[in-house]
Amino acid sequence: MSRIDEKLVPIFEEVLRRNAGETEFHQAVEEVLESLGAVVAKHPEYIDNALIERICEPERQIIFRVPWVDDKGQIQINRGFRVQFNSALGPYKGGLRFHPSVNVGIIKFLGFEQTFKNALTGLPIGGGKGGSDFNPRGRSDGEIMRFCQSLMTELYRHLGEYTDVPAGDIGVGAREIGYLFGQYKRLTNRYEAGVLTGKGLIYGGSRARTEATGYGTVYFIDQMMKTKGESLEGKRVVVSGSGNVAIYAIEKVNAFGGKVVACSDSSGFIVDEAGIDLELLKEIKLSRRERISDYPCLKGGGACFSEQGSMWEVPCDVAVPSATQNELNGSDAAALIRNGVVAVGEGANMPCTPEAVRLFQAAGILFGPAKAANAGGVATSALEMQQNASRDSWTFEETEARLEMIMRRIHDSCAETAESYGAPGNYVLGANITGFVRVAEAMQAMGVI
Ligand code: NDP
Repeated sequence: MSRIDEKLVPIFEEVLRRNAGETEFHQAVEEVLESLGAVVAKHPEYIDNALIERICEPERQIIFRVPWVDDKGQIQINRGFRVQFNSALGPYKGGLRFHPSVNVGIIKFLGFEQTFKNALTGLPIGGGKGGSDFNPRGRSDGEIMRFCQSLMTELYRHLGEYTDVPAGDIGVGAREIGYLFGQYKRLTNRYEAGVLTGKGLIYGGSRARTEATGYGTVYFIDQMMKTKGESLEGKRVVVSGSGNVAIYAIEKVNAFGGKVVACSDSSGFIVDEAGIDLELLKEIKLSRRERISDYPCLKGGGACFSEQGSMWEVPCDVAVPSATQNELNGSDAAALIRNGVVAVGEGANMPCTPEAVRLFQAAGILFGPAKAANAGGVATSALEMQQNASRDSWTFEETEARLEMIMRRIHDSCAETAESYGAPGNYVLGANITGFVRVAEAMQAMGVI
């Protein structure tokens, strides 16, 4: 049962009609519209000026062919996407995802979310997202490079440090960003460092960018817990995924004195009651690019791997879903609540289904939505752009201190907005309204755009 205000129902119906079959996009729009009833009651001009309709329609959507040659000499064809969602606050900014599930609906949901997330950071960045249905699993370095070069051969004409600035996401890390930047540089004959973020340190990357999303999510969780006089010290934590976000979330939980007892990849999950051995996990997932099922054997006892069942049945105080969208459903949420979870922070984008979110909120669990909780990655990307623009390079400590301050500001602005709308502790409402109002105000000022 949708909880969209009746004034907004026609807008949502039009989104459904115009974007038929794009279920993840519908889900993301519905979640934001559910928060906006009280906003349009205060600001009827947002309805009169069709601001919400305009915000739900991407400024530009680009879909293109990506042909490349594999190691056997066979020609492969993938589909590339870039959705330039909203540039009211700055150049389009958002990652590229390489995963076989990628389609235009997924990229649009991510671009829509990104617009509000970027607004929440308070930094001058608009929202966009892109990627391809390319599956990097099992591909050689040479194949990855040729694919990235082919993708950039079309994408470069839509990018620029003042236009559109991609970064990494699922399946796109430092290796892929390097190949993409190298090809952009060749095609444009410009050393335009600020056109991509997540670069290697040696050629314009920012310290702490790799760690930023995972660290930022844990800072956000820590801030939420502090409002209840709690902390991560001594807490049992479950983190899904074992990629960029998950690994650095685990690192920061450890730094706060918590213990991560389970994590996963797309083949299953591991439980290690002694606490996940992070160096071993990094070795398996980041260095060898292997499966998490290798962990128990390499650990030499004390851990187990499971391909069956739900990792959310593992009892914990804090859950950090950090793999992919809709990975934690209503029955997972019920299991977490039954086992006494006190806080949930979304490291991934939209990992909790709407039913799961409702259950957490009804049970009074601290719930940090992705837009706010995982905004540290894109915020640090904006810091990378700042360093590139001033041809400067900050220390790890300075960059992380800024990240921590930004996460605290995001937390506080979401909490204050929720409070001012009569819903204290509702970070979903706080994040949606704060992000929306910033974008809407900028668009108002610019006329009918
Ligand atoms: P990575 O590719 O580094 O890691 C993704 C992890 O999730 C891997 O462990 C992967 O398993 C697992 N995974 C991916 N798809 C599925 C699936 N369908 N089912 C189960 N497990 C899956 O990506 P990131 O860590 O960068 O991204 C994770 C999430 O965080 C995404 O939602 C992304 O949009 C979001 N995010 C990322 C940011 C960043 O800075 N990187 C910023 C903000 C949000 P396997 O190894 O088997 O593929």
